[in-house]
Amino acid sequence: MAQIQGLAAHAAGAELLSYHYDPGELKPHEVEITISHCGVCHSDLHLIANDWGVSQFPFIPGHEIIGTVTAAGSQVRSREKGQRVGLGWQSNSCGICEWCVTGRENLCAQSEATCVHRHGGYASRVRANSRFVIPIPEALESENAAPLLCGGITVYTPLRIHGVNPSSRVGIVGIGGLGHIAIQFARAFGAEVTAFSTSTGKEEEVRALGAHRFVNSLDSKAMKEMAGSQDFILNTANADQDWSVYLQALRPAGTLCMVGVPPSPMTVPAFPLISGMKVISGSPIGSPFRLREMLDVAARHKVQAKTELFPMAKANEAIEKMKKNKVRYRAVLAN
Ligand code: NAP
Ligand code: ZN
Repeated sequence: MAQIQGLAAHAAGAELLSYHYDPGELKPHEVEITISHCGVCHSDLHLIANDWGVSQFPFIPGHEIIGTVTAAGSQVRSREKGQRVGLGWQSNSCGICEWCVTGRENLCAQSEATCVHRHGGYASRVRANSRFVIPIPEALESENAAPLLCGGITVYTPLRIHGVNPSSRVGIVGIGGLGHIAIQFARAFGAEVTAFSTSTGKEEEVRALGAHRFVNSLDSKAMKEMAGSQDFILNTANADQDWSVYLQALRPAGTLCMVGVPPSPMTVPAFPLISGMKVISGSPIGSPFRLREMLDVAARHKVQAKTELFPMAKANEAIEKMKKNKVRYRAVLAN
């Protein structure tokens, strides 16, 4: 097999450099995708910085991939050459545990990530178990759909599992790559949507995406006024915040769900949890059947990422812009 060309981090926090590797034999259940687009998720930045202590260098980041199937292993029946497909954070699981056989592969203890201990999508090609390689509905443009493969499914799944519906009041914290898609899905589910953002310059666009209300989360008076107003708050921000203020913003029996990964442990008072019967939860990506469902919902309800397109070779520029919180709202690399 020909070498795969990509951009790799060679040390924690380092700039990406041109890199190639030999992918070896294609395994029987694997599909090889020739990549057209790859979104830049903040998890790539966490991995490059080795924030989570799991990165092995050199590695090629990238896990919001869209491309075309150009090779399929001997056991692959469900994908064919030439098909447009997507691949997200997860690229394999055991397939036989309690979680895999009940459609919750994202909870499998043997789960393998597309760019952890292997090379991801800032590259010419990538491989994954065909179960995690998802057909892309025709109505979706690759550039705007690539971010759905991680950012989209990560916000769709908890909104769906927690039963968000027209009676729900939903708060989305952090309006970046994940958050701006979350607003659109929460709106598609019929909820009343409040955006909590540190960037007041985003207000007009955030309302156009479907938010009914925009709250400056740095304004402590405005935050206090939100007390008891939300049924479900989804945190997509990757920063430490005063979580007790968000617990206060919940109505009784409300849930604060974490998908963004703040650096420090969360410290919260127990009393509001007890008296208001409130819940703090978390959610990892989503399973393959949810990915299909989410893409179908996105196609029918016109949910898409607002993107800034960069040539693959300019991945470092996209990363620097994201570090400054200047991307509106998802950087996508194109080959
Ligand atoms: P992103 O595009 O950089 O957006 C993050 C947003 O967080 C920013 O746009 C900003 O929104 C807000 N923010 C930044 N600094 C902040 C601060 N100091 N205080 C409060 N808010 C701040 O990142 P992303 O790609 O959406 O990813 C967000 C997080 O989700 C990352 O931690 C990533 O690793 C995680 N993630 C988790 C999963 C999962 O399975 N659970 C999957 C994908 C990603 P405003 O400007 O509106 O304040
Ligand atoms: Zn991601």
